[in-house]
Amino acid sequence: MAEPSDGGAPMAGAEERSASGPAGIGGPIERAAGPDQSWLIASPGLWEGGQSGFRAGWVELAQGRIKAVGFGPSPRPADQTVDGLVAPGLVDVHCHGGGGASFTDPDPDQLATAIAVHRRAGTTTLVASLVSASLEQIEAQLDRLRPLVEAGELAGVHLEGPWLAPGKRGAHDPELLSWPTPAAVDRVLAQSDIVRMVTIAPELPGALAAVERLSEAGLVAAIGHTEADLATATAAIAAGARGATHLFNAMPPLSHRAPGPVLALWRDRRVFCELIADGHHLDLDLVGFVLAQIPDRAVLITDAMAAAGMGDGHYQLGGLPVEVAEGVARLAGQSTIAGSTIRLSQAVANLVAAGQPLVPTLAAASAGPADYLGLPGVGRLVPGAWADLVEVDPSGRVKPLLRRGRPAAAG
Ligand SMILES: [Zn+2]
Repeated sequence: MAEPSDGGAPMAGAEERSASGPAGIGGPIERAAGPDQSWLIASPGLWEGGQSGFRAGWVELAQGRIKAVGFGPSPRPADQTVDGLVAPGLVDVHCHGGGGASFTDPDPDQLATAIAVHRRAGTTTLVASLVSASLEQIEAQLDRLRPLVEAGELAGVHLEGPWLAPGKRGAHDPELLSWPTPAAVDRVLAQSDIVRMVTIAPELPGALAAVERLSEAGLVAAIGHTEADLATATAAIAAGARGATHLFNAMPPLSHRAPGPVLALWRDRRVFCELIADGHHLDLDLVGFVLAQIPDRAVLITDAMAAAGMGDGHYQLGGLPVEVAEGVARLAGQSTIAGSTIRLSQAVANLVAAGQPLVPTLAAASAGPADYLGLPGVGRLVPGAWADLVEVDPSGRVKPLLRRGRPAAAG
């Protein structure tokens, strides 16, 4: 599960980037410092972590990473003062694309476009999700994504399929769904250098054994696109499943006489629950309630497809035609929702606009997803973490500041 670029030593070339990085943000600050010198940013509201919120403080950066963090007066005059609240960069662990591009595209430029459009909205850590396909196709897609993971542009890959329930397939092509046979699991495990998470319907033949093998190998097995009942979902958690792929969506509803997988996932303290806060997949009051109940294991995701950061129109998802109208993506000619069109910053803004408190909302877009997938060096402002910063205003509007110490463009 090693991710070389996030593991320890700074990336090759990080020094040059760090040196030219912070000088670019926040206006006309000239910086003559060399690569080993640090850069100190002060803020009237620096993210303290956990659920405690913001306090006046400072963060010192060097070589693309956070060197020190403190609250109260800074140890030396700040090189830069940010007027707004400073928080960790956002972490989106379920995303299929954006900017007109998908992570299944063969063209490297398209892959870069998809990453860039999310980065411009403050998502500094992104996991690429692949929809159901044949294992041959998935292996080819992984080969194309591998350099981006190794370079630290992506934090890994999520396989959403092909081991999904036909009856809850959502926008996945039914022809491409399959069962997690031992041989198929072998092939996925052979990609465990970059695959971090696999969505699986636990009621499929062989699924519980697959959950156990994936978990033992250090991958996150997430329950989703499932018709499982409470007992089956509970058994999958016992076998090692630790995630809910977009809780509530593509699974039976929480019913008073048949609570189904939702209860199994929500109640278990070991399970992280993904939530899509685009205002279409889920009622935002429900999202806010779940965040309040399980603040340490709620994970906001986008499940974004190619239309994220773009306008309405015709797009593709895993080879299926999708029409986006008024920001909602649906399989062409059907009512089935086919991913969202938001970036994670929009999920934060939506929830705050709906009256949800900012702090747990931001935690669910940073520390929550980082803990879910065990991503090192992201999601928190602590020494040793990447210098990934965003500026946030009290209404939940997120602006990118830095990624790995380099200034980030907004848009
Ligand atoms: Zn998805």
